[in-house]
Amino acid sequence: MALAAAKRRPALIDLAAASFENTFVHELPGDPVLVNMPRQVANACYTRVAPTAVATPRLLAWSDAMGELLGLARPSALGLEVLAGNRVLAGMEPYAARYGGHQFGHWAGQLGDGRAITLAEVMATDGSRQELELKGAGKTPYSRTADGRAVLRSSLREFACSEAMFHLGVPTTRALSLVGTGEEVIRDMFYDGHPRAEPGAIVCRVAPSFVRFGNFQILAANNELEALKQLADYVIRHHYPGHSYASWYQELCRRTAALMIDWMRLGFVHGVMNTDNMSILGLTIDYGPYGWLEGYDPMWTPNTTDAQGRRYCYGNQPAIAQWNLARLAEALLPLLEREALEEGLNRYAEAFNDGWRRALAAKLGLASVQTDDEELARELLVALTETETDFTLFFRRLAAVPLEGSGEALLAPLAPAFYGAQAAHERLAAWLRRYVARARAEGPDRPQRMASVNPKYVFRNYLAQQAIDALEAGDAGPLERLMRVLRRPYDEQPESEEFAARRPEWARSKPGCSALSCSS
Ligand code: AMP
Ligand code: MG
Repeated sequence: MALAAAKRRPALIDLAAASFENTFVHELPGDPVLVNMPRQVANACYTRVAPTAVATPRLLAWSDAMGELLGLARPSALGLEVLAGNRVLAGMEPYAARYGGHQFGHWAGQLGDGRAITLAEVMATDGSRQELELKGAGKTPYSRTADGRAVLRSSLREFACSEAMFHLGVPTTRALSLVGTGEEVIRDMFYDGHPRAEPGAIVCRVAPSFVRFGNFQILAANNELEALKQLADYVIRHHYPGHSYASWYQELCRRTAALMIDWMRLGFVHGVMNTDNMSILGLTIDYGPYGWLEGYDPMWTPNTTDAQGRRYCYGNQPAIAQWNLARLAEALLPLLEREALEEGLNRYAEAFNDGWRRALAAKLGLASVQTDDEELARELLVALTETETDFTLFFRRLAAVPLEGSGEALLAPLAPAFYGAQAAHERLAAWLRRYVARARAEGPDRPQRMASVNPKYVFRNYLAQQAIDALEAGDAGPLERLMRVLRRPYDEQPESEEFAARRPEWARSKPGCSALSCSS
């Protein structure tokens, strides 16, 4: 009998020993001016710029999952210098990308990588090409009046949440490392005239491309049509091979719809869906004042800066994504027929509506959508708004509701999901009676199917804040533990129950623990 060969893992190497490519720089028009001062840039997709060195780099966290995909080991002293922006290795051609965008519905002109600098591309172990980008690496021509830096709290949030999203199965940019700079950054966290010094940090982000809708918009807005065409050709050549302009845009619409379905099914709220924060690959990008639904409320946004208009609240996200796709379509008009763009927007609506219907059915454990199921789901969402019910816990625990039970027995498994007293659940109780009748028609694998789409663990803002407080005090333990749990968000992991708890009352109005500002 032949023995199967043990799966051989290629040895991990140090970043300093890796080889690099720079297709973005080589294949696209760059800014001929090399002066690193805030300015308007013309006829270019990027500006070559080096990171600004920091005082005393320290590795605060490392994503083993990301490192393994890239074939990279935890960094040597030299590797750490690179991840801090203190060293640029031979073969790296760092740049800041030029983009514009609509912010909160208004055209904002040139934005660009004001604090993010792509170092180079590496070939991952799965054959994919991945950009390494340092966020918080110092000023670029796109920094405007800001400092080019990032604080530890926002960097930890980006580092951990991008990895958590990946393990939830959501398309996202990734993160490799979190490096403390040993320097302070001044931020007015509440925008109330009380700036204070905070520890600075740099995240090394990873994605096949960080191109946003706004990279196209700035070129179209300035009538730089040759560069616009070159950027579209580059994106298609590397990321949508075989596509025409029309089918590329339509595929992006489909991917964006799939992304919105993922955000909505998980209760994720991005917080700042400006067109410069929309990925041309349909990835979740730019983790800022994001959050996860606690009590189900379509109007909820974690972003206190958006508390008035609620433009980017949970329930608006699918419509905003379509609005953003329409702004991108306008920028692409010089390249393709209006009809093809309209077709993309129509497909977006169809893909979202159809996928959302199916996602809700899957969350309820229904293997196929039957006549009354849509109404059943709609009624649930109304019932959930009437009592403050934790979105994540409700769906996770729903699988445990006894199908032969009645009255209190139906509600009992859901108790951990309720923020308030349990008295007012009349409507929900009525819904549960309907639900169990419908669920009895499902096979015995229903709870298992539900567990595979309804996570037990999400990166709740209060958990993030606890990890931040510990790390700021010098203890990386809580972050490491949390990252380990979030690698298997759909598994029970009974030993980590505390990370699945609904937001405690003390965190309701504590800054960072539920809602937070854009300051980062
Ligand atoms: P955001 O709201 O984080 O998506 O950023 C919007 C724009 O502001 C982008 O062009 C960022 O690069 C830029 N930006 C944000 N924070 C900073 C900073 N501290 N220094 C320089 N540019 C920044
Ligand atoms: Mg951004």
